[in-house]
Amino acid sequence: MSDELTIAVSKGRILNGFLPLLEKLGITPQEDPTTSRKLILETSRPDVRLVIIRASDIATYVEHGTAELGIAGKDILMEYEGDGLYEPLDLGIARCRMVLAGPENERPVSGRLRVATKYIRTTRAWFGDQGRQVEIIRLHGSMELAPVLGLAHRIVDLVDSGQTLRANGLVPIATIAEISSRLIVNKAAMKMKHGAIRPFITQLAGVVGA
Ligand code: ATP
Ligand code: MG
Repeated sequence: MSDELTIAVSKGRILNGFLPLLEKLGITPQEDPTTSRKLILETSRPDVRLVIIRASDIATYVEHGTAELGIAGKDILMEYEGDGLYEPLDLGIARCRMVLAGPENERPVSGRLRVATKYIRTTRAWFGDQGRQVEIIRLHGSMELAPVLGLAHRIVDLVDSGQTLRANGLVPIATIAEISSRLIVNKAAMKMKHGAIRPFITQLAGVVGA
């Protein structure tokens, strides 16, 4: 088996945080990924290429071994149910918090609390730990609208500055998790391509937070 490495990464915050780390390792994409429409990018290291994938699909590609390595938000990994992944390194990039949020001035909720989120599993587990059963409503975006329009009493979502929450009359009620992006590795590849993957992890660890 060749020791070529494919790294799955999403455009936006994660790529923007990851490229400077790669650059510190002397690895640069052959084309500017922020402007290129290509989804497969060769790099200055002939054995390393990047594939551009949606954030929520990164873990799937890496678990199937299509990419040996990937960069994924902890929020995505907490929802992921597979077990074909190692998570050897916190890259400290694309940081934010996962919070429970609700309307600033709210009358007490009667009946079962309705919580809108795309983080179904994490939300259920978090309320479960408190012995509370809630009705979870699955949304894919614009979570802040749900309490405003009365679809849900609360939301669970990622916040950075909190501006979007505030602009919609919402405030954070509790922090569920501190989020950052992690290096993930396909378990089988970790064995089969040990000679390429181990040094890469060590090098990357050396530039994280440096
Ligand atoms: P899309 O926005 O295209 O629907 P997505 O929400 O999965 O896709 P991004 O918005 O780029 O993708 O978010 C990717 C990752 O960035 C998240 O999974 C999370 O780990 C991280 N992240 C960091 N800060 C934030 C933030 N303020 N809001 C959302 N995600 C953030
Ligand atoms: Mg998004």
